[in-house]
Amino acid sequence: MGQKGREIVKMNVDELITILNKALADEWLAYYQYWIGAKVVKGPMKDAVISELNLHATEELNHAVMICTRIIQLGGTPVLSPDEWTKISHCAYDAPVDPYVEEVLKQNIKGEQCAIKTYSHILGITREGDPVTYNIILQILTQEVEHEEDLSSLQEDIELMLGKRK
Ligand code: FE
Ligand code: FE
Ligand code: MG
Repeated sequence: MGQKGREIVKMNVDELITILNKALADEWLAYYQYWIGAKVVKGPMKDAVISELNLHATEELNHAVMICTRIIQLGGTPVLSPDEWTKISHCAYDAPVDPYVEEVLKQNIKGEQCAIKTYSHILGITREGDPVTYNIILQILTQEVEHEEDLSSLQEDIELMLGKRK
């Protein structure tokens, strides 16, 4: 890591790297949950849901890029093996064993809510100590908030269509 870049970090860098690695695992799991969900999902409004799931998958992968880049800048080693992902992640991986669209949406909304909680926490601990990480996490959090809303509004449209809401 660059000398000045390191000097301005006023917090425990090893602890920060551990937290960022957990978030990196979260992002890969989120990526796969969306990607495989888009492949297996069945039910009403399937096409709209598949487009959104695929878009979110690419956005989660981009979050992984952002976090991995920051871990390396901080002098850390990004998690090197997929074996570690479910062991270290903050958020659980929810396999879409029931491919019905409302079930898949429910699982992914739960995942986004966990991501929002996790990133809010990381924002809190980096606000003073590491403005560069803070800025990266803020961009990711902004997109997770958008993801939760996108999925919730799809869920609402499906409920309206099925006459579950008036
Ligand atoms: Fe993400
Ligand atoms: Fe997301
Ligand atoms: Mg979206």
